[in-house]
Amino acid sequence: MARFSLKSWWQARRPGPWRIGVVVAEADQIPVTMSRYEATLVAPHGLPKWLAFDCPCERGHRIMLNLDPARSPRWKVIRQRPLTLSPSIDVDSYGQRCHYVVYHGHVNWVPSYKGGKRSRCASPRTI
Ligand SMILES: [Zn+2]
Repeated sequence: MARFSLKSWWQARRPGPWRIGVVVAEADQIPVTMSRYEATLVAPHGLPKWLAFDCPCERGHRIMLNLDPARSPRWKVIRQRPLTLSPSIDVDSYGQRCHYVVYHGHVNWVPSYKGGKRSRCASPRTI
């Protein structure tokens, strides 16, 4: 039985602002500055290869997701407008962790637990 989630039900009804706003043929055509809530799809010959956007944490780092099934790890654009991606994005940048799910144009942060305290960001994982 599927778990009922009021938040996902609400988000499915009310799309968030995130979307693919620009499509380019090559990665070197990705704009230096992007509009807020807008991702750039790199699709040479119409085949999705990369998705680039500025991380919603607003610390100024860019996310580049591989969409090419021949490479790993790989993400899928489930929907372009509003944007839905799979799986979650989990990056360590400048000693901070950014982990979130992009669903129906919304960014849903995955809480991390460090020292028993819940926070949005955490230190990088040690392997
Ligand atoms: Zn970030």
